Amino acid sequence: MTIKECVKKYSSLLKNTTHIPNKEVEILILHILQKNVIWLHLNYNETFDKEKELKKLVKKRATDYPLEYLTNKASFYGEIFEVATNVLIPRPETELLVEQAVEILKDIPNPRVIEIGTGSGIISVMLAKLIKNIKIVAVDINDDALTLASKNAKKHEVEDKITFIKSNLYENVDKEEFIMTISNPPYIANNYKLPKNVEFEPRNALFGGEIGDELLKAIIEQTYKKDIPYLLCEMGYDQKRPLEEYFKKFNIENYSFYKDYSKFDRGFVI
Ligand code: GLN
Repeated sequence: MTIKECVKKYSSLLKNTTHIPNKEVEILILHILQKNVIWLHLNYNETFDKEKELKKLVKKRATDYPLEYLTNKASFYGEIFEVATNVLIPRPETELLVEQAVEILKDIPNPRVIEIGTGSGIISVMLAKLIKNIKIVAVDINDDALTLASKNAKKHEVEDKITFIKSNLYENVDKEEFIMTISNPPYIANNYKLPKNVEFEPRNALFGGEIGDELLKAIIEQTYKKDIPYLLCEMGYDQKRPLEEYFKKFNIENYSFYKDYSKFDRGFVI
């Protein structure tokens, strides 16, 4: 069968899974062959001899298993990052968090930033790529995430700008003058029913506690006590009110919320 015929045949199995079935089958073919898109278009009418392998991946994808976990790749901010089942898949919304940080950091010479819950490392790696002379401490409680994040830092040639530390929040971080804390912490309520595809992602990257905002609040409190000037976090669309209340507890007045692409409240900048 040619690549073209395979795309036609197998995309029909993904009609109820994705709105871009052809594209996803092409991506899986490229993953199997370890080739790029240009190669694909030049060879569209050539024979594809790994149909069995493709069938297996397509069938798994048809269970809503994320494409990113099948290819071990995800795109974020126009760049490709390595992912694995023990880290959250990057979300486009999180690009807005990076954008907010860049807006502030671009005017600060030699900024030192700490990221809490780095996961695959996307936020720290992007900041390291975009901001000159930045130094970042990126922490996570998960060893495997830290290994993957440092792999991504190497891939993007910013490993000398980021120090990865295993730590629960600030616990194992030496006292240092940070200008900013940034985080996309787990912020979903424990009892929330996840959509099928999200169920394949690690629970400890998603669930923030009974109410959901517990970790956000811990980050706010600890960052305030450490006198770190800026705090930027992603949050749930319904967490603006309770967090605003929480800011009052510390007399935090200088803050703003930002919205995501669907016009939902998605994060804050203190
Ligand atoms: N910082 C990573 C991201 O934004 C991981 C976040 C998480 O696991 N909650 O994707």
